[in-house]
Amino acid sequence: MRMTVDDAIVYGKGRVHSDLAKMLLADLMGINSLELLMHLDEEVDEEILEVYKYRVDELKKGRPIQYIIGNVNFCGNTLEVNENVLIPRFETELLVKETIDRIKRDFPHPIKLIDLGCGSGAIGLSIKKELSDVDVTLLDISEGALEVAQRNACNLKLDVHFCKNDMLNGIDERYDVIISNPPYIRTDEEIEDIVKNNEPHLALYGGVDGLDYYRQILSNVSKNISDQYLIAFEIGDLQREAILALANEYLTDFNFECLKDYSSRDRIVFISNK
Ligand code: GLN
Repeated sequence: MRMTVDDAIVYGKGRVHSDLAKMLLADLMGINSLELLMHLDEEVDEEILEVYKYRVDELKKGRPIQYIIGNVNFCGNTLEVNENVLIPRFETELLVKETIDRIKRDFPHPIKLIDLGCGSGAIGLSIKKELSDVDVTLLDISEGALEVAQRNACNLKLDVHFCKNDMLNGIDERYDVIISNPPYIRTDEEIEDIVKNNEPHLALYGGVDGLDYYRQILSNVSKNISDQYLIAFEIGDLQREAILALANEYLTDFNFECLKDYSSRDRIVFISNK
């Protein structure tokens, strides 16, 4: 059956949130949701309509729109995402922005940075895009995630290194900045179905107390930090004190700073010796 853009929107609205329906249709037509309104009377191409209906169905079944469309905007860049990587969150943009500010302020010389558990590459690539002379390494244990990160680096024309490894285990290299948004959800924590049913559990869960990866990173981090260093973490909103305790256990003479996210919850931690 033939449909105009308007008909297609009505079709979508009957099944999913109207904004999301418009986003799906606009994406397939190669325009944005606002431009869609200028084409309301036009007939939708048959192939597009077919894919659109399929995608509306996927959305209705609970698949995140970012995986359906296949990309997200993060810090102003378009990044490919698929089921092998976590969908980058707004809070993580804050981690990137605040870290860039600190690199500019505290490190006047060229530095080496590693993004641990890089997923799509959102963090490391956004930093490289902004600070081109930072030597950036993206590390993940997941081959599937590294493939996505590699394609994102290539699309953004960013020259970075890739490393497949379990955090810093067995790595002796020193870095000026170690940054990570590791999995930090507790095993028994209730999370939204759309997250739990779609996003990689490897990127979400951090063990019984959610702290496994901070413990893994911090317990050996002294072998991987330069004389002057910055460790930047995204954290779960109730993990601040536990992470401070871990830092106290494994590091000496450091500064500890915690920033809140847009919902006023503890979300970002900086550990540094400056
Ligand atoms: N912020 C993500 C969430 O709340 C979790 C990301 C993570 O564990 N690092 O779903």
